[in-house]
Amino acid sequence: MMVSRQLRARGIRDERVLAAMLEIPREAFVPEDQRDAAYSDEPLGIGYGQTISQPYMTALMAQSLDLRGVERVLEVGAGCGYHAAVLGALAARVIAIELIPELAAMARENLEKTGRLGNIVVIAGDGSLGYPQEAPYDAISVAAAAASIPRALVEQLRDSGRMAIPVGPHADQELRVVWKRGGEIDWHVAAHCRFVPLREGAPRVD
Ligand code: SAH
Repeated sequence: MMVSRQLRARGIRDERVLAAMLEIPREAFVPEDQRDAAYSDEPLGIGYGQTISQPYMTALMAQSLDLRGVERVLEVGAGCGYHAAVLGALAARVIAIELIPELAAMARENLEKTGRLGNIVVIAGDGSLGYPQEAPYDAISVAAAAASIPRALVEQLRDSGRMAIPVGPHADQELRVVWKRGGEIDWHVAAHCRFVPLREGAPRVD
């Protein structure tokens, strides 16, 4: 239902993305009091003032990275770990960084209990500066809205790599799909969206 009505009908065509969204139990990632709404067409609260994206947005972002299964991916803003699980099904390795330590712990726990932690590592820390220790990345997925595209993330993206990132103020954001080529970036707007803000310049947690 979610896959046919919310994803396929709106233009998600990458069969690997559709299969991953079918396979990963979204209800295992949302808080217990939200389980009944796990597959509804909206973002849901995950505590600490944060949200898990609407399924369509997760699918669109994943599709826009054009993953084949061999990539190393950075996710900024792991939240409850659901989007990381989707990326983990599509790529070789995922480094998911989350600023709020309690959410980082929750993401790790959810990934563990769903058997998805194998190729995913969750790090508690500020991802607005990326995670240079594991760079370069073939793809970067940012789950919180930035004021502009952070330079550190572009630097950590491999040449010909892609990044999906929401940019703009709270009520009026665009999902940009960025492509790096010859050290320069090019981007297009894939959708309008509303994400929680990317906290920038926060003290590092780890
Ligand atoms: N992808 C998540 C949704 C996360 S919502 C999921 O599937 O559940 C965005 C997350 O970004 C929030 O958990 C928020 O705490 C986190 N965040 C905000 N600023 C951040 C930063 N600078 N570094 C890392 N995470 C950040």
